[in-house]
Amino acid sequence: MPGIIDLRSDTLTVPDEGMRVAMARAEVGDDVLGEDPTVTRLEEDMARRLGKEAAVFVPSGTMGNLACVAAQTRPGDEVIADAQAHLVLYEVGGTAIVAGVQLRILDSIDGVPDAPAVTEAVRMADIHQPVSTLLCIENTHNRRGGGAVDADRVRAAARAAHHLGLRVHCDGARLFNAAVALGVTPAELVDECDTVTVCVSKGLGAPVGSVVSGDTPTIQEVRRWRKRLGGGMRQAGVIAAAGLYALEHNLERLEEDHANARVIAEGVEGTSGATLRKPAVPTNIVLFDTRAPAAALAARMRDENVLVSTMGPHTMRCVTHLNVDAAGARHAAAVVARVLRD
Ligand SMILES: *Cc1c(COP(=O)(O)O)cnc(C)c1O
Repeated sequence: MPGIIDLRSDTLTVPDEGMRVAMARAEVGDDVLGEDPTVTRLEEDMARRLGKEAAVFVPSGTMGNLACVAAQTRPGDEVIADAQAHLVLYEVGGTAIVAGVQLRILDSIDGVPDAPAVTEAVRMADIHQPVSTLLCIENTHNRRGGGAVDADRVRAAARAAHHLGLRVHCDGARLFNAAVALGVTPAELVDECDTVTVCVSKGLGAPVGSVVSGDTPTIQEVRRWRKRLGGGMRQAGVIAAAGLYALEHNLERLEEDHANARVIAEGVEGTSGATLRKPAVPTNIVLFDTRAPAAALAARMRDENVLVSTMGPHTMRCVTHLNVDAAGARHAAAVVARVLRD
């Protein structure tokens, strides 16, 4: 009988012994002065993996997204994003308060609007209208079931935006999950994106941090915004070391999380108590709509040591990660299926 299986989020991972040793031994300096060699190595490593010129380490994905929006817009501009994007739902309205932009939200199937939808959403050069300057996409897409969006779909949306003079930001909090699930390099998924935020604190298993990548002048501006937002960190190599360790050790194993998520998804699909949201290319998130109230179901699962999150009155989410093994996933699948069936 396994202990508590915590599927509320992949943010719950804790550093293992190897990661802690890497953190303890990290070579450090004052990163605001550009003198932390470990932070610099993490930035260079991420930029290289994503095929970008430069990168900057930020405390969170939320700050990374906000700094990218602020760096690529002016107050009063309009930013196009999917209606269910993390930027829209879970970032406390930061883009409105801090960057002073207005969001134009579109409903898309998998979180990336298709090219005609992008083209149609861009405002005309009319004195009455806001200026459209940025398209934000999310890959994988959390709130739409953790689906990975393939490179061609991303490129089509990005090219439509670029054609009309907009820039493109990718919220790639789980970009590596998308790359692994699609069997492509992460660079291919963002080759038409100007900026990308990747979280090392999710499935990659680091305790803190995200990295923003892009072209050198834009990253310079994002770095300025990081400082302005209070995100300039000093001997940050201690946490950057965890990110480097994660990139070195925890990338390929994301496939195990996806396999474990499939086991749980099959458990959900086998019951009549819920409807599984099925993205074209699933990853480590299992999202489903329940007949009974989600809070009551979650409480019953909790009684059996399985923790899941409620995403709405009748919506639940399980996320697999580094600290859930195959046996744990099988046990969780059985509990989830039994509770949903009753
Ligand atoms: C977690 C997440 C973020 C924000 O990351 P934090 O580090 O928690 O601020 C942004 N976008 C998506 C899709 C996420 O899942």
